Amino acid sequence: MKAMVFYGPGDLRYEEIPVPVPSPGEALVRIEAALTCGTDVKTLRRGHPVMIPRVPTVFGHELAGSVVAVGRGVKAVREGDRVVAANSAPCGECPACRSGRANLCEDLLFVNGAYGEYIALPPRLVEQNLVRLGPDLPAPRAAFAEPLACVLGGIERGRVEAGQTVAVFGHGPLGCLLAMAAVARKARVLLVGKSGWRLDRVRGLGVADCLDATQSSSVVGTIREMTAGRGVDVAVDATGLPEVWEQAVESVARGGTVVFFGGCALATAIRLDTRRVHYEELTLTGAFHHTPELIRRAVEMLDGEAVVPDRLITHRMGLPEVPKALELMARGEALKVLIDPRGTGDAR
Ligand SMILES: [Zn+2]
Ligand SMILES: [Zn+2]
Repeated sequence: MKAMVFYGPGDLRYEEIPVPVPSPGEALVRIEAALTCGTDVKTLRRGHPVMIPRVPTVFGHELAGSVVAVGRGVKAVREGDRVVAANSAPCGECPACRSGRANLCEDLLFVNGAYGEYIALPPRLVEQNLVRLGPDLPAPRAAFAEPLACVLGGIERGRVEAGQTVAVFGHGPLGCLLAMAAVARKARVLLVGKSGWRLDRVRGLGVADCLDATQSSSVVGTIREMTAGRGVDVAVDATGLPEVWEQAVESVARGGTVVFFGGCALATAIRLDTRRVHYEELTLTGAFHHTPELIRRAVEMLDGEAVVPDRLITHRMGLPEVPKALELMARGEALKVLIDPRGTGDAR
């Protein structure tokens, strides 16, 4: 089979490799849709010791497809099932897993290999994080389950409720999904981005009031103006920039919640106004990754069209063009690129 294989930072190779044979407990999935992700861009640049502990490995981690064979003992799925797979599976036994926070599992098993024609999914993933799809859910849409599950985790941490105003910082695919998920909860969303092609595209989605940070001398001031001076109920950072984390804190109202969804570079820090955190009872929380429950909920929302992320796909390409797709992502010229393993790669 053809696959785009990661050998280390900056080293992706398009190769012919054997189609895996499923061992006991494994499921072999023919990939019908894979999506690029900002994490791929970062990983290609500097590697990822947690998500990719061993190389070489087939790259990519957001995928949907069909089961074509199962190893001995597999009961969760069978040949012919259309499925979406998460990119990790928790151990189910550590203290985090036992307390219902499997996203913080001490032994998360990460799975890569979306940019190939087939993938053999390990037993733990098959048991916990392989979800069957309804007949009407197209593979490209289903492949959003993983990023959407992360987003639902963030919305949960923010305890977003109907009628609240939510500021989302960042106009990348995750910022957009956060906005869509908050709207699905009947919140009003202000999305803060930077002018350019992507922000125009996001504006066109019509899910949120878009605020162009480059056109405002004070983003926080503008947010306060738009909320009658109060600030927002919930602010979510999806940029991973410490200065934006600070803006997120400054933009919430008394009693507000700030969700740090975007991870910042190592050894960075932010300044906090201790008076506000204490006297205004701010809730500051991180949000990381997903759980099997969130993956299932994401699939349900996609299936029920509570979130329809199709328009975040800005390009469609074949496997040989993965490096080009990731370059477009790195330059901010694409939101999500759909990688079709059977596609010839007529980019659009
Ligand atoms: Zn991803
Ligand atoms: Zn665990």
